[in-house]
Amino acid sequence: MSLSGIIRTYALPDAEARKLCAPDEHCTSVAEIDFEELWNAGRRHLVFDVDGTLTRYHSPVPGPGVMGALRKASSLGFAMCALSNDVESDRVKSLEVMLEMPVFMASPKKPHPRALKPAMRYFELRNCNNLVVVGDRLLTDILVGNRVGAYTILADPFQDNNDPFGIAVARLYERVLYRI
Ligand SMILES: [Mg+2]
Repeated sequence: MSLSGIIRTYALPDAEARKLCAPDEHCTSVAEIDFEELWNAGRRHLVFDVDGTLTRYHSPVPGPGVMGALRKASSLGFAMCALSNDVESDRVKSLEVMLEMPVFMASPKKPHPRALKPAMRYFELRNCNNLVVVGDRLLTDILVGNRVGAYTILADPFQDNNDPFGIAVARLYERVLYRI
């Protein structure tokens, strides 16, 4: 991203930047997502962020209501995976077992459009038309999804998410900046 792009996204968002960081839907949690409606709208692939979205920050287990929601999505026929910017490698295997889906590490990180490559490869997709990106952060999860033309859902983090200080500040900053 150019310097002017960085300033427009992270400091003084104009109308275009606001559009790129605006989720198509905003839910209180993954458990509140209407997967049936997504399916009926022709969406077929779900990419979930991990920390704050499927688990509390750096927790080894899914958050409340998450597994019920994921199993419902799976029973409808959705293909699913998780994509994290900073999941520790020793947590990936146990998360994959718990979440019943592959967990990929983004490299480059979200919001770089190429961050979605492992998910696209896994789904064997060439475009993002049927893809849904779900996450708790505007400037990573929602921005990367909108950049590639996916449908984006902002899920609020768990109330006792155990955000590290830096993440809590970043989350507050982006929500004030983008008025969400
Ligand atoms: Mg997150």
